[in-house]
Amino acid sequence: MTLRSKLLLAQLPLALSLLLVGLVSRRTVASLDHNSQDILKDNYLSVLAAQRMRDAVDTVGRVAISHSLGVESDSAAEIKEARRIFDRELSFQEGNITEVGEKDATARAHATWTQFQGVFDRLMESLPSKAAEIYLRELQPTLVVLEKSTAEIVTLNQDAMLRKSDRARKSAERMSAAMLAATLAAFVLGFIASLYITNRLTRPLSVLAQAVRRLGQGDLAARARLPGTDEVAQVAGEFNTMAERLAEYRSSSLGELLQAQQSSQAAIDSLPDPVLVLQLSGVLLNANAAAASLFGVDIDASGEACFARVPSEVRTMIGKMREHVASGKGAYVPSGLEEAIPIPVREGIQYFLARTNPVLGEQGQVVGFTLLFQDVTRLRRFDELKTDLVATVAHEFRTPLTSLRMAIHLCIEGSAGALSPKQADLLYAARDDCERLQGIVDDILDLSRIQSGKIELHRRTVSAASLLEQAVDDHRQLARERSIELRVSPMTIDRPVLADPDRIRLVLTNLLTNALRYTPQGGSVEVRAAPETEAVRIEVSDTGPGIPREYIPRLFERFFRVPGTQEGGAGLGLFICKEIVEAHGGRMGVESDPGQGAIFWFTLPAAPSSVETASS
Ligand code: ADP
Repeated sequence: MTLRSKLLLAQLPLALSLLLVGLVSRRTVASLDHNSQDILKDNYLSVLAAQRMRDAVDTVGRVAISHSLGVESDSAAEIKEARRIFDRELSFQEGNITEVGEKDATARAHATWTQFQGVFDRLMESLPSKAAEIYLRELQPTLVVLEKSTAEIVTLNQDAMLRKSDRARKSAERMSAAMLAATLAAFVLGFIASLYITNRLTRPLSVLAQAVRRLGQGDLAARARLPGTDEVAQVAGEFNTMAERLAEYRSSSLGELLQAQQSSQAAIDSLPDPVLVLQLSGVLLNANAAAASLFGVDIDASGEACFARVPSEVRTMIGKMREHVASGKGAYVPSGLEEAIPIPVREGIQYFLARTNPVLGEQGQVVGFTLLFQDVTRLRRFDELKTDLVATVAHEFRTPLTSLRMAIHLCIEGSAGALSPKQADLLYAARDDCERLQGIVDDILDLSRIQSGKIELHRRTVSAASLLEQAVDDHRQLARERSIELRVSPMTIDRPVLADPDRIRLVLTNLLTNALRYTPQGGSVEVRAAPETEAVRIEVSDTGPGIPREYIPRLFERFFRVPGTQEGGAGLGLFICKEIVEAHGGRMGVESDPGQGAIFWFTLPAAPSSVETASS
């Protein structure tokens, strides 16, 4: 059955109730009508007939009186009509006897009417004097009887009318009560039936709605099972098909997701280095097998329990990286092996370099981060070996190099006899190379001292200006030889710094040597110092070729030299400078555009008293 038919069916009981009420009303009205018809037919017509008979008798009586009084008139037609009316009404009355006593009164009227007519005819044929006597003696009594008879007929019928009308009123009251009862019953029955049918009709809709709600809440097994073929059942069928497809899609995309997750798990598990994936809140999302075996990360535990057995160094590093990523600085890549942190693991202490990558959400916001601990223990050991080896070699070079330099010096001075110009040129070249070699040996020995932590600072309050002046003085000769202008820019405020003058001199020497080395003849090198907040910034600028942009980040690494550089040492000078500056608590950097020269700068902490003086 279609939904339309069902809806029509739901309205049927109410329609039937209406019909029932209509029928009952019709019957009631018909019954009332019947009652009034009865009164009209049975009594009212009899009353009318009796009255007409009386009128006819009156007319005839009046003619008789006139004749008795000797008043002649042409009343034959009138008499004839009155007689016809009386006869007609009498005959009607005789056929409409309905009440007790009415028959006798009618019969009496009939008999008296016959007698009256005989007397009247005789009266009319008599002379007026005789006629008056006949009237008074004979006609008058019959007239009275006729009057009485017709009056009795009227009274009987009027009483009956009153009775019947009373009965009709009572019947109408009964009918009205019955109608009210029928209306109420029809309403109640119709309402209950409609309610029942409507409920049955809407039940499938609520089943469907429930299934839709469950599906909306993620229950993909929800189905609306409805029998029949109506529109709701069809919608339920479509809904079930949709839910089926959704479940299939979910299981297939779940499968893909699972596969993707397993692939990424396999990928990170295949890495020998520990990998952690964390939420920005620090909650562990994933970890690879190496993290579990090396750091004791328990991925199956929840919350902080995951890190229960994890070394504190790892936890500290997680906190640092979290801060880095949360501050929006992006990925973190360590700049060198010196950032490696020692972590106690099962096999003993191992060194790890931590690098991190932010994990972005749908809107591009940082929601977590990955953390890779690269095991650099072996690399570090090689590095140490290399540094040790280089330091040993440098150390071994020192004594022979000193005697070599001494010998060359003595030869150049002529202590071993006069030199030919050719010999002198060769010895000058040998001296320059020895000096260069000495520089490299010194750098290497400085480096090994720095790396073994043997760099000791003897800090004191010194004037920044005097440090600059002294360093520049040391290099005036070299600047002259190279035809380069070397100057110190006058300081606006000479703020004392807290520094080890010998070490800072080494830094300035390195920077000035580089500047003079790489600046072509006719160029200039300038040294200046400027106060900063609680520090002094020292700059060495030159008009040399500058440094290509891509090499700037690596300039302060050990053994790094800009490719193609002919002169210079082993690429250690800037590294050593930075280490010394940072040991003082300062920072070091470079600003350079290719072809525009270079500005190497570093900061030194201002001496405490000078800070107070400056701020006061
Ligand atoms: P080196 O002892 O070999 O000079 P440094 O660490 O002092 O090593 O310098 C590293 C590299 O930086 C040098 O090889 C050179 O290429 C570059 N460099 C340093 N200073 C300057 C400068 N003032 N102008 C141009 N290049 C420079």
